[in-house]
Amino acid sequence: MPIPFNKPYKAGNELDYLKQVLDSDHMSGNYGFTKKCHEFLKKQSSAEEVFLTQSATAGLEMALMLADIGPGDEVILPSFTFSSCATAIVRQGGVPVFVDVDFDSRNVTASYLEKGITDKTKLLLPVHYAGNPCEMDDILALAKQHNLIVLEDAAQGLGSAYKGKALGSLGHLGVYSFHETKNITCGEGGALLVNASEFKDRAEILWEKGTNRRQFFRGEVDKYSWVDQGSSFLPSELTAAVLWAQLQKLEEVTLHRRKIWEHYYQRFEALEERGVLTRPKINEQGNHNGHIFSVTFNEGKVRDRVLDDFRSKEMGATFHYIPLHSSPAGKKYGRVAGDLTNVNQVSERLIRLPIWYGFEAVDQVVGTVEESI
Ligand SMILES: *Cc1c(COP(=O)(O)O)cnc(C)c1O
Repeated sequence: MPIPFNKPYKAGNELDYLKQVLDSDHMSGNYGFTKKCHEFLKKQSSAEEVFLTQSATAGLEMALMLADIGPGDEVILPSFTFSSCATAIVRQGGVPVFVDVDFDSRNVTASYLEKGITDKTKLLLPVHYAGNPCEMDDILALAKQHNLIVLEDAAQGLGSAYKGKALGSLGHLGVYSFHETKNITCGEGGALLVNASEFKDRAEILWEKGTNRRQFFRGEVDKYSWVDQGSSFLPSELTAAVLWAQLQKLEEVTLHRRKIWEHYYQRFEALEERGVLTRPKINEQGNHNGHIFSVTFNEGKVRDRVLDDFRSKEMGATFHYIPLHSSPAGKKYGRVAGDLTNVNQVSERLIRLPIWYGFEAVDQVVGTVEESI
């Protein structure tokens, strides 16, 4: 029987909530369900303010607008990440500066980020790969030393924490994704977490097309007008209704995925001891949400053979990012700082295995890996 790589989670009451929206007079954004999601995420993360967005990509774009990234400003990010981290920078006229990641955790560290710092650097963009926390104390200290803004890409990190604080709430700004490939989903969706209060007022304006509409609704101004840059970042109530149904199950989904993740981790111990592959190294200062289970083989050609075998058996397994620094747009718009050996090797050797709510075939998947190596 084919095994899908991913199956989007369904909470069960999405349709009820959608019907409530359709029966109401408000389908546009920032009504009841949006507010419920905002409150939930604020409480869950202790962020100063939360804004639902159409996607994590839109959240990153809003964050870089807020951070006032402009032509020539440099933003340092790992090369091992999703393209939207870079497109959001380039859209503002900024320059993405690509650095290496730690091989075992696949996360960027302060020492790699530091290699990219010049007098044009304005912002650091660490990515919590697989929901596994980056070493944030080091990154925040580096940012402080050089007076830089920190934007966390926690697109994969809802439900994870570093030293007891939710990912996304440690930097000045952070984003989550609710794309169907993530643990909790509304199809396409995201959120921007504003943690530094200096960004809070302006965030309200950018979110609603550059107007002070929110101040107007609070009765702080007697009419609302165009006051700044902005866009239509907010999703509709239909999206928020689906998200609300799912957010209420966050804890259950996280625990469930963690169990599957731990099962994989144990089952691969023997192969790691034989020197065939390495399992991901988890930050012990934190908690992760079981978003991705991956291993890295000792050779790229073994990874490719395993991938072929999975494909022929109709079992879902997949590689991950093609390094941004070696992609066509990365070469055109960005630059590299330091040696990127780990990014190249992780990209060639990593395989992601099926993990989703209700997935029960860990032993079969591990058996297939054992047969094909
Ligand atoms: C999924 C993802 C994104 C983009 O999320 P969207 O909601 O699809 O825009 C960005 N960064 C990382 C690391 C991701 O995994």
